[in-house]
Amino acid sequence: MRLNFLARGLAAVCLIAVATVSTAAAADEAPLAAEAKALAETVQKQHGAGYATRIDTARHIVYVSAVDPRALDYVTKLLGEYADHQRETLFPLPLPWNVTVILPTVNDYRKSVPASSASGRYRPALRTLESISFSDVLVHEFTHALHHADQAQASQRHPVWITEGLATLFQRAAWKDGRFKVNVDPSLSALQEALRKEKAPSLARLCEMDQPAFLADAAVCYPASRYIMFYLYKQEKLKPFYETYKADYAADRTGAATLAKVLGKPLGEIDAEWRAWVLKLEPPWTPAHRVQAHLGVKMRTTDEGVEVAGFVRNSVAERGGVLRVGDVILAVDGQATPTAPDLTAAVQACKPGTTVEIEVVRGGEIVVVKQLLEATRP
Ligand SMILES: [Zn+2]
Repeated sequence: MRLNFLARGLAAVCLIAVATVSTAAAADEAPLAAEAKALAETVQKQHGAGYATRIDTARHIVYVSAVDPRALDYVTKLLGEYADHQRETLFPLPLPWNVTVILPTVNDYRKSVPASSASGRYRPALRTLESISFSDVLVHEFTHALHHADQAQASQRHPVWITEGLATLFQRAAWKDGRFKVNVDPSLSALQEALRKEKAPSLARLCEMDQPAFLADAAVCYPASRYIMFYLYKQEKLKPFYETYKADYAADRTGAATLAKVLGKPLGEIDAEWRAWVLKLEPPWTPAHRVQAHLGVKMRTTDEGVEVAGFVRNSVAERGGVLRVGDVILAVDGQATPTAPDLTAAVQACKPGTTVEIEVVRGGEIVVVKQLLEATRP
């Protein structure tokens, strides 16, 4: 799988498995709750000691977790509120089945998902999500889980640009009081570069791409899909687009005709306007080669993730006392950092001299600290 461009800022590219879409029987709460209990026990047994289960019976989510209970609290709240938010926006029906969310240790995750730098995946056939991220990748994969259920309930199978466009759109959002506000993300720079060099596919081509074609040009296709969704979102056309697409599905599986219908102009015109719009967007920060941000910590990889083992002498981190030895760093500015290379990449995707939010586990609690990033010394 082509996932190595993660380091370039495309944080949450997942392993997309081919969905087997089938219409679920009408949700009946009692059997679902019983199934959830059995499911929790089975998955817990598979994972062994150290895994706890928690069931969100109202939302049909089964959690099986090796992380600290406080971290699990954080995840259940995040996904619960996100699911509620999506019920008001794109996916109105409740999950017709139980979705299992597994939060493994980093080592267990690496064992079960070998040869991958992605920090999460959703497997539609099993309706199971595994993630070592508590932020963007988790939201990305959970969007796949919600979208998969919505497609199944409509007996539809949406193209990869819609599937990944929605997942990448919502992964980078400011989250306050259960509301998501979608923002630009670092993948914008790669898209702008591709557009300038005329290396991005046309909208018409992107809409008809199958998964192999999409993955063959993943570094451009992911952000292109995201920024079409962002374009719709900014014009408050995302919901009308999705609803119209579902209604017209039989006649327009690629979504190209729906784009033209919802935006009220031919696809070629939309394509030209969209390109110009994308090029005017301000990217969050493009890392340069000479000056890069650094955190000033010594890292140690543990079962939980990357731990602060110490500080670089005289670094801002050492003097500031914001980060502490023993902190396990989960995310930097919304980018999940399950491994040391992920952490380095996430830091280098930020502008030196800015203050970033760092999500850490400290004393069993998830804490968000604000840390100034220094520029690397020449
Ligand atoms: Zn995905």
